[in-house]
Amino acid sequence: MNLHEYQGKEILASFGVGIQRGIVAQTADEAVAAAKSLTETTGTGWHVIKAQIHAGGRGKGGGVKLAKNLDEVKTIADQIIGMQLITPQTPPAGKPVHQVLVAEDVYYPGESEPSEFYVSVLLNRANGKNMIMYSTEGGMDIEKVAEETPHLIFTEEIDPALGMQGFQARKVAFNLGLSGKAFKEMTKFITSLYNAYVSSDSSLFEINPVLKTSDDRIIAVDAKVTIDDNALYRHKDYVELRDKREENPIEVEAGEVGLNYVDLDGNVGCMVNGAGLAMATMDLIKQAGGSPANFLDVGGTADAARVETAFRIILKDPGVEAILVNIFGGIVRCDRVAQGIVDAYKNMGDSIKVPIIVRLQGTNADIAKELIDNSGLDVQSATAFQEAADKVQQAVG
Ligand code: GDP
Ligand code: MN
Repeated sequence: MNLHEYQGKEILASFGVGIQRGIVAQTADEAVAAAKSLTETTGTGWHVIKAQIHAGGRGKGGGVKLAKNLDEVKTIADQIIGMQLITPQTPPAGKPVHQVLVAEDVYYPGESEPSEFYVSVLLNRANGKNMIMYSTEGGMDIEKVAEETPHLIFTEEIDPALGMQGFQARKVAFNLGLSGKAFKEMTKFITSLYNAYVSSDSSLFEINPVLKTSDDRIIAVDAKVTIDDNALYRHKDYVELRDKREENPIEVEAGEVGLNYVDLDGNVGCMVNGAGLAMATMDLIKQAGGSPANFLDVGGTADAARVETAFRIILKDPGVEAILVNIFGGIVRCDRVAQGIVDAYKNMGDSIKVPIIVRLQGTNADIAKELIDNSGLDVQSATAFQEAADKVQQAVG
């Protein structure tokens, strides 16, 4: 589960990680009230207004702006809330902004260049260890740094059984070129950040930038936090942080009826049972020169009602030009699935406007094929994997 910046920062702060303070606002008036109340606690009259969407690169897209007084807070918040924000990480049409974070300005004006670092904590799946990835080149595109100057990105691996050792936090602070108070503060920052990552059962923390202020405080100015869904049952208070407006609406709908749907960019809708068969089916479509639009895992029970729901969900994607049903009848018999497909098709009448190719293998596959072939519907059967892929390819041209 991905979080908004303001939610991620709240979690960091709850574990004692230093953050740029801020208050979230849904309207321009709320933004002004937030700025006033921030000034009372921080003393600064300058604020930064930050669009809250689940995508990075907001600064570049015009979603992060500095306001020097309350009038500017109002105008800028007014302009950002409701805008369609386009960044390198959003879909081409951008994402609507529903709320802004009003934050204290921590880049003290008139000071020499502030130091912006990059720090992330993530799981290295290759060796089962946690990893701190960090760089002196924070604030801008870390992807570009990784590509052009990879030697400027450091990693520190942490054995989850041992936890982070003191020398590791110090090594990070040292490699970031810090000394004196800033060195100590960075050591504390890294230690509490790692503790927050483990305790919140996150799979990713990406803090870019981490800022060294001119008075040598170390704080998180941005926060990208991903919580491991499988651990959410241990964090009931995090469940409500989910913002469904940020997720793919078809995926949300499928999840609500217990179907596992994954949206992709191509033109062939895939109805399968089991994740392994889904992967194989997508490989097959690709090999035949096509491109999957999505895949939907119907799981163990593929009766008419479930198949119909699955068809309706797949057809919500306007990119779908054909549907490939590829189901292995192990626990569920193929003839039952075939009957489900025929019934669902008849039920849906003319709402199905794309050709459907069905490959059913396993128990009673022969009866299933007969059922499909004799249905009189625009449904083609296929027996071999390759045959199915070729028929799909013909269907989409
Ligand atoms: P992103 O573009 O989505 O990664 O959003 P960030 O939260 O990283 O903000 C983008 C940029 O805005 C940062 O890299 C900073 O340079 C700048 N920024 C953030 N907070 C402040 C602030 O308090 N004052 C000033 N002047 N700039 C800020
Ligand atoms: Mn950032």
